[in-house]
Amino acid sequence: MELNLKPITLPGIDPNAPLVIAGPCSAETEEQVMNTAHELAAKGTRIFRAGIWKPRTKPGGFEGIGVEGLRWIQRVKEETGMYTATEVATAKHVEAALEAGIDLLWVGARTSANPFAVQELADSLKGVDIPVLVKNPVNPDLELWIGAMERLNQAGICRLGAIHRGFSSYDKKIYRNLPQWHIPIELRRRIPALPILCDPSHIGGKRELIAPLCQQAMDLGFDGLIIESHCNPDQAWSDASQQVTPAVLDYILNLLVIRKEKQTTENLHELRSQIDECDNSLIEVLSKRMRVAREIGTYKKEHNMPILQTGRYNEILDKRGAQGALCGMDAAFIKKVFEAIHEESVRQQMEIINK
Ligand code: PEP
Ligand code: MN
Repeated sequence: MELNLKPITLPGIDPNAPLVIAGPCSAETEEQVMNTAHELAAKGTRIFRAGIWKPRTKPGGFEGIGVEGLRWIQRVKEETGMYTATEVATAKHVEAALEAGIDLLWVGARTSANPFAVQELADSLKGVDIPVLVKNPVNPDLELWIGAMERLNQAGICRLGAIHRGFSSYDKKIYRNLPQWHIPIELRRRIPALPILCDPSHIGGKRELIAPLCQQAMDLGFDGLIIESHCNPDQAWSDASQQVTPAVLDYILNLLVIRKEKQTTENLHELRSQIDECDNSLIEVLSKRMRVAREIGTYKKEHNMPILQTGRYNEILDKRGAQGALCGMDAAFIKKVFEAIHEESVRQQMEIINK
């Protein structure tokens, strides 16, 4: 299904600059919301986020302040003029958020993974014209992510955007949620008109990773950022380690290098044709390699030899890895490429043997 999209333009916000949404993970107290909002507004933030209903992994944690917090967000809007955004997960949330005049809604990662919940949200938004941002589902499933946006779009939501917040993994290493950048990149290829924002707070899970992740997102041509910012991050009731003060946020944003796409695309033309040439040669060489592999297959069949000769396979992987490293490439990457090539060669030989 093709999405019927309209840009998320908000009066007074430069449509050519990255869309920045900032604010605390959760609205905790009126004082915390107002202090954070005033500090952010003073630094130039135009869209304020705060979670009112918080999906928590285990019961017993802070599950959000609930509707009471909507009043504080209304106060933020009145006193600072910022647009406001919050997460909705049920039809009830939508109703309350719309009634409170929230300007922008987002669907959380646990919700977008559940088509029943997304459909409930879509039904509750029928006939409403409000921008909705859809976070990627916790699991790395692009179709599920797109499906969630399709459901909302079918309900008439045209000002849609996606938020890349990383993907759960069992063994957490550097990141709280693995970025798996190829997934939002593929989303961009599939739906070029869809704005994509990056959420470096939830990807990184730690403050130090916010700046590099923001820069990476900008370098990949993302359209905006949603960043958790709190007036006193260490005391935050949720996601304390991944929030920064409004002053630090301002520092991070000021250091970002935003590359102008128009300029680069023109200049890239020549380099891109060189890439095309390289790719053509790669395909030619690969097809030659597969032809030879098939010949080897015929030989093995005639001489009744097994297809897989581990010694030879290891030799290829080691030799090519070392060769790649000598040419300034990452040995692990080359190994991965040759594993894939070898797998296909084996498949081709199997075909011959089984003929
Ligand atoms: C959030 O933005 O605070 C949040 C709960 O995010 P996610 O759905 O990405 O975990
Ligand atoms: Mn959070």
